[in-house]
Amino acid sequence: MFDKILIANRGEIALRVIRACREMGIASVAVHSTADADAMHVRMADESVCIGPAPSSASYLSMPAIISACEITGAQAIHPGYGFLSENAAFVQMVEDHDLTFIGPRAEHIRIMGDKITAKDTMKNLGVPCVPGSDGGVNDVDEAKRVAGQIGYPVIIKATAGGGGRGMKVAQDEKGLEVAFRTARAEAKAAFGNPDVYIEKYLQKPRHIEIQVFGDGKGRAVHLGERDCSLQRRHQKVLEEAPGPAISPEERARIGKTCADAVAKIGYAGAGTIEFLYEDGEFYFIEMNTRLQVEHPVTEAIFGVDLVRQQILVAAGEEMEFQQDNLTISGHAIEVRINAEKVPNFSPCPGKISQYHAPGGLGVRIDSALYQGYSIPPYYDSLIGKLIVHGRDRREALARLDRALGEMIVDGVDTTMPLFRALLDEPDIQSGNYSIHWLERWLDQKFG
Ligand code: ADP
Repeated sequence: MFDKILIANRGEIALRVIRACREMGIASVAVHSTADADAMHVRMADESVCIGPAPSSASYLSMPAIISACEITGAQAIHPGYGFLSENAAFVQMVEDHDLTFIGPRAEHIRIMGDKITAKDTMKNLGVPCVPGSDGGVNDVDEAKRVAGQIGYPVIIKATAGGGGRGMKVAQDEKGLEVAFRTARAEAKAAFGNPDVYIEKYLQKPRHIEIQVFGDGKGRAVHLGERDCSLQRRHQKVLEEAPGPAISPEERARIGKTCADAVAKIGYAGAGTIEFLYEDGEFYFIEMNTRLQVEHPVTEAIFGVDLVRQQILVAAGEEMEFQQDNLTISGHAIEVRINAEKVPNFSPCPGKISQYHAPGGLGVRIDSALYQGYSIPPYYDSLIGKLIVHGRDRREALARLDRALGEMIVDGVDTTMPLFRALLDEPDIQSGNYSIHWLERWLDQKFG
C-alpha cells in the first residue's frame, strides 16, 4: 500500500480524498495555488505544496508543477479528484513515466472515452445501447442534413471533445440545422480546440440515468446501480438521487449487468460512470466519465461503501472489497449542489463567509471545504458544498433534506440553498416525476 498520496485538486473533493487516506493510514499531500493558501484542504492535509499562481492553467492544471510536488514530498501516487487533470490521458502517461501511480483508469481508457465518437463506437461494440445518430463524425452541412433527415428531427449536434454541457446545439428542423451545425462547431473549436461534431436524435423528455461501475483492472467489474441526475440547468446537474425514482429493480439489474460486463471486457480499473438518457423504458448511452463523479456520495450512502478507498486499493494492486452479490441497496439518498451563486440567474458570488453552520443528525453528510471567515476565491468552480441525505425511503430522504437545509447557515454570499427549499414544495419533485427539461421550465415559469 502507498505511504503517501498527493491530491491534485482543491475544495471539497480534496477533503474527500484526504479523509479516505487518513482512515487508511496513508499520509496526504495537498497542492494549492497562491489564492488557496488559506483553503481547508491545505489545512487538513499532512503536508502542502504551493504549485503556482491563482489561474488554474498555471497551478492545478500544471503537470510539471504537480509531478515536482510529488518528487519533493515523496508521494507515490496521485489522486486527481474530478475536473482539472482527472481525465487527461497525457497526464496519466507523464505520471507513469515518473514511476508514480495514477489513481484512476489506464490512459488508454481515458483516451477512448474522452472522444465521444470513439466512446460511442466502443460501447456499441460492447453491446451497450446508444442514442440513434450519425455513424461517427459529420463534416459538412450537407452531410448533416442527410443524417438528420434519416434519424428525424429534432436532432442535437454535439462536440466529440465535449464536456461540461458545452458545444451542444439542438435543431428543430432543416431550417435550423445549418446555424446549429456551424455554432456547435465554432463553440467546440473555441472551447476544446477541436471542431469535430456528431449528430444524435434529440430525445424529448428523457431522464438522465447514470450507472456507477467499478473495475479491478484485471477483468472483474461490478455495478453499483444508478443515479438519477435529471434535474439540470444548462446541461449541468443540480440535484442527484439514488436509486432513480423511475427505475425498477429488473431494469437496474439488466442495464447494470450490461455496463459491468462492458467495462470488465476492456479491463477497466477503478471508478467509472456510464451515462444514459432513459425514455419509455429504454436506455441510450451518451458518454462515459472515467473518474469519480461529484455525485458519488449518493451511491456510497445507499450501498454503504467508500468509493475512494476502493480506488486507492485497486490503484495499489489490491483487490476491491466488493462483489456483485454483496452489493445491496439500503434506502434512498439525495444530494444537492450548493453553489455560491445568485438565484435565479446563477451568477457566481465569490466573497467572504461571515457565518457558517453545518447541519447534522441522522443520515446527513456534508462534503464542503467551507469554514467561517473563509473567502471564496473568484477563480474556480462555484461549488462550495454538497449536502447529502440518506433515509429509509425517498419520503424520509426528502423530509431529511428539508430539515437539514433548515439547519444549515451560509452567510456572506448568495447560495443556491433557497432554490432547493423551493423545489421541495413542488409536487413533481415530491413524486419524482421529472425529466431533464423540468428544472429549466420551472425556472422559466417562476422567474421568467
Ligand atoms: P457533457 O459531456 O457536456 O456533460 P453529455 O453528453 O453528458 O455532455 O450530455 C449532457 C446533457 O445534455 C444530458 O444529461 C442531457 O440533459 C443533454 N443531452 C445530451 N444528449 C442528448 C440527446 N441526444 N437528447 C436530449 N438531451 C441530450
